[in-house]
Amino acid sequence: MRHPRAHAWKAAVGISVGGATLAGLRTAAGRPVRSAPTLAAAGTGIAAGSLMVYEWLSPRSWLYGPVFWHARTGERVVALTFDDGPCHPYTEELLEILDREGIRATFFQIGNNVRREPNLAAEVASRHVVGNHTFDHSHLVWSRPGTVREQMQRAQEAIHDATGTIPRLFRVPHGWYGPQVIATAEELGFRCVGWSVMAWDWDRPPSEVIQRRILRGLRPGGVILLHDGQDTDAFPKADRSHTIAAVPHIIRRLKASGYGFLTLPELMDIDAGDRQPR
Ligand SMILES: [Zn+2]
Repeated sequence: MRHPRAHAWKAAVGISVGGATLAGLRTAAGRPVRSAPTLAAAGTGIAAGSLMVYEWLSPRSWLYGPVFWHARTGERVVALTFDDGPCHPYTEELLEILDREGIRATFFQIGNNVRREPNLAAEVASRHVVGNHTFDHSHLVWSRPGTVREQMQRAQEAIHDATGTIPRLFRVPHGWYGPQVIATAEELGFRCVGWSVMAWDWDRPPSEVIQRRILRGLRPGGVILLHDGQDTDAFPKADRSHTIAAVPHIIRRLKASGYGFLTLPELMDIDAGDRQPR
């Protein structure tokens, strides 16, 4: 069943078009452009249109349907998530770090990369949660629903062939959750996921900068986005050395502050639990 909010965006379209049309009609009828009602109608139209564009490009989309990006909790728990893998040798290094720290994380794998590194993908899935991050990291922002569906299904097949698991989580590349992405994900039984903090680590800033950006914005229930791969590139074109160097420090600092680490499904359960009547 579609989420009830799946149609909220139509109201936003109506307000946007209605406001702009009213302002246009008033102006065409010879009313002064700067009159209060004309400005109010134009302003409402622009505000609704801006909201639609913002939500389209947001990893925390609300208008077009539910995207999980944090748990509403005061408990000191967070989820580590890694996108764009599997990617040798960074994914292996990350698995070692996580094993050493006794942490389970969530990996949004790219189907193409899973086809290239099926054994590594399976190793990740044997200890961690795996999500779907499209087949070839396409920009789905303006894609038709059929293209979105094909990207999701091809990745799903690749991940299932390699790991034997069927992901139930989907994260769109770049966090661009247009209505057609969320609707298609829901049809295929996915829950859409965003993030609460990220470090722009695809630009390869120094490890200290990555640490600072993550730790500065993090709150209880947060979802941390980092990358163990780089689009569909392989090593050495893909370079995630700075991210991998930052991860042990981020984990240690958070543990010292009393934080625990959960997988995304575990974090989602906490969010659901908080909404129960007490
Ligand atoms: Zn990505």
